Amino acid sequence: MRYPWHDHDWQTLRAQGERQHHALLLTGEPGIGKLAFARQLAQSLLCESTTADKPCGQCDACRWFVAGNHPDFRELLPAADSEEVEEDSKAKKKPSAWITIDQVRELNDFVHLSAHRGGGRVTIVQPAEALNTQAANALLKTLEEPPPGAMFILVSHQWRRLLPTIRSRCRRVPLPLPAREVALAWLEQQGLDDAASHLAESGGAPLAALERADASILAVRRALLADLAQPRQLDALAVAERLDKQKTEVARVCDWLARWVYDLACLGLAQSVRYYPDEASRLAPLAQALDPVRLMRFHDQVIAAKRLASHPLNARLVFEQLLFAYQQAMRAAGKG
Ligand SMILES: [Zn+2]
Repeated sequence: MRYPWHDHDWQTLRAQGERQHHALLLTGEPGIGKLAFARQLAQSLLCESTTADKPCGQCDACRWFVAGNHPDFRELLPAADSEEVEEDSKAKKKPSAWITIDQVRELNDFVHLSAHRGGGRVTIVQPAEALNTQAANALLKTLEEPPPGAMFILVSHQWRRLLPTIRSRCRRVPLPLPAREVALAWLEQQGLDDAASHLAESGGAPLAALERADASILAVRRALLADLAQPRQLDALAVAERLDKQKTEVARVCDWLARWVYDLACLGLAQSVRYYPDEASRLAPLAQALDPVRLMRFHDQVIAAKRLASHPLNARLVFEQLLFAYQQAMRAAGKG
């Protein structure tokens, strides 16, 4: 996929013929979707259906690409950004924030092999400023004498920091910030409230705005769940006031409450947690001393409140009522 604000740049690039240069350097602010653009370009270069202005999504090449196993495609990222390393969090060493010489050596082996399919080999380097000096010099050799059919797409948030020799080997494709109204329309489509202020705080970069909003919502949810974990100590008035000040939507709080209660019930019945596995250790002691009838009554109340949430109402009052009702429902539990 690519983002709507990139349509024009995409068509310009396609019209110029993106294959005319073996190395492109996509530059622009962080959080505008440069990597998505690079991936779509890579997929288009590998796509085996010649008609489409975008990759067809149907051919073998497209299907392999989407599944992450096209044999003629590589993505060079710092180890710290790689998903595989994140999963292996028990590794002793902190993953590197740099792209290393070893990674580039492996890449050089890859680009010098002939392509599995007819379409040449495509490499994305993201972000190019993460190449350390040795790695940049090793990549430079390949950029200076690229094997036939090899295509490089370098992505950079700070292209002026790249070695001038690397820059001069690439054709720069600047990707600008989207127009404010385009970014706002897109953020609203994503269901983001207060899109204008998040966008302003992110310097006009829509993906950065979305990430910022997600992070702040996550923090609000974590704090609420920590309160719910201690129903006896819960200060319903204070928590309601806090949620109101944070402009948390009623429907969102209802979802969190409903999921929390669902998890409590599941733990009681089946010893499993569906929504908040990270909270299992807090849920478990509560689940031991539950009154299931009260809990289900509370669950119904939450669902009813959510149904009314689209009407204008006093959010703080709704939060207060729900939190008091939660305390009532949990009266038997949380004695510790
Ligand atoms: Zn295709």
